[in-house]
Amino acid sequence: MQRTSLYIDGKFGAPENRNYFPAVNPATEEPFAEVAAGQAPDIDRAVRAARRAFDSGDWSGLDGRQRADMLRRVAQGIRTRQKEIALLETRDNGKPIPEAEWDVGDAAFCFDYYADLAEEQAGRSPEEVDVGDPRFQARILREPLGVVGAITPWNFPLLMAVWKAAPALAAGCTIVLKPSELCSLSCHLLAEVIDAAGVPPGVFNLITGTGPEAGQALADHPLVDKMAFTGSVTTGRKVMQAASAGIRTVSLELGGKSPFVIFEDCDIDKAVEWILFGIFWNKGEVCSATSRVLVQRGIFERLLDRLRSATEAIEIGSGEAPGVKLGPLVSKGQYDKVLGTIETGKLTAARLVTGGGRPANLDRGYFLNPTIFADVPTDSEIWREEIFGPVLCINAFDTEQQALDLANDSKYGLAAAVMSDDLERCERVAAKLRAGIIWVNCSQPTFTQVPWGGYKMSGIGRELGRAGFDAYFETKQVTRFDHNECWGWYLDAQE
Ligand code: NAD
Repeated sequence: MQRTSLYIDGKFGAPENRNYFPAVNPATEEPFAEVAAGQAPDIDRAVRAARRAFDSGDWSGLDGRQRADMLRRVAQGIRTRQKEIALLETRDNGKPIPEAEWDVGDAAFCFDYYADLAEEQAGRSPEEVDVGDPRFQARILREPLGVVGAITPWNFPLLMAVWKAAPALAAGCTIVLKPSELCSLSCHLLAEVIDAAGVPPGVFNLITGTGPEAGQALADHPLVDKMAFTGSVTTGRKVMQAASAGIRTVSLELGGKSPFVIFEDCDIDKAVEWILFGIFWNKGEVCSATSRVLVQRGIFERLLDRLRSATEAIEIGSGEAPGVKLGPLVSKGQYDKVLGTIETGKLTAARLVTGGGRPANLDRGYFLNPTIFADVPTDSEIWREEIFGPVLCINAFDTEQQALDLANDSKYGLAAAVMSDDLERCERVAAKLRAGIIWVNCSQPTFTQVPWGGYKMSGIGRELGRAGFDAYFETKQVTRFDHNECWGWYLDAQE
């Protein structure tokens, strides 16, 4: 069975304690690899390597064009190994192979995109600022922030790591990555690609391991300058608490319960297609999943009927099988959690439209039928809490204002979507939705060039786009006194 290593200071090696845990294929429930269980001493070695690499200037001091060359080699390395990485991602996570290939393609693009920004930044001169006093000259410099600790989840294991690693490395930072213990393998391949691209030792380090043992040690480490975290609110809070002890910058990409508002003037097939993609893509294990759908009453029952039949036609099975659109949930723990929440939903006044349990023909693997609840009480757990599985709640509304009130009534604010043939109405609603990502007449398409992140409890900061690059810089002012006279506060000004 394949055994993974840690990657510290440019070398692959075993964790100090020589412990490993199994990677389990969620479609078969069989272990298929052994993952290195890094702990605090490994994290410490990795952070010290990243610190040395940063402080030496061997990476941060390079011209952005040189870093860009290296990052483009990483992008090319990912593309060359796309099929291999995607297959491993599917075995580890359960997602259908075409979705995994999509992720890998996006990961390569992300490195190319931030390579372009690194190059552009290198060609820019520092901003000169008129401070209103001719005796002074002020300049604003941007400098790489330092050592980044990155902790990532299991739903897009490679991509969530790359959303941090690519801009951080492009900016000149060094990084220690701790992926989720549930899906670590594609990040191991990423380390191989980065190593082969010739990125200097210590610039990128990978520690696999559990959250409490490796993640917490990274969040607590005093030599880390910034923590970049994607995951649940509960863990995000712990990372933020640790950052407060060390007064470190933190970015948090957390959960959501995103609404999708559908007006009765739109085409029902188009709406159904985007509703399905919005909640069942990646098995519903998507932070921005539009899991609360609001449909204007005039088309509610017709749309629901069409949605039910299309949902029941979704092919469920191993992500490796051709034609499958819904793979198994990532783990036994996640399967039990989602099934448990479905059971609580059945106890409410909500109507179970379809799904609600295991497909009859699949007795192994963490498979669930895509599930729809309608007429859901808005104070119920299934309406308010993130389920993170293929479970949709759908309710009717009458007026635009009522739709907005229902949509915004959430502690989360990651994403929201609106659909109508009336584009003016779409823009009006988009402006009033309290979320960081708004989709109009679609749900979920995500582009590297535009910022990603949430309002309210969905997080702090933005990834992707220029904002995702800026997040890895410090701002420095250099103010120079450029005058022959003495300043003249304590001593007299002289000619
Ligand atoms: P999680 O919080 O359980 O784990 C995330 C990471 O934190 C893992 O690497 C885990 O090992 C680590 N961790 C756990 N305990 C820790 C601790 N005490 N200290 C430091 N690290 C610790 O989340 P998950 O179940 O892996 O991911 C699902 C969550 O991620 C969902 O809530 C989802 O919405 C969110 N998510 C958000 C985005 C976004 O962009 N906003 C993207 C993907 C996932």
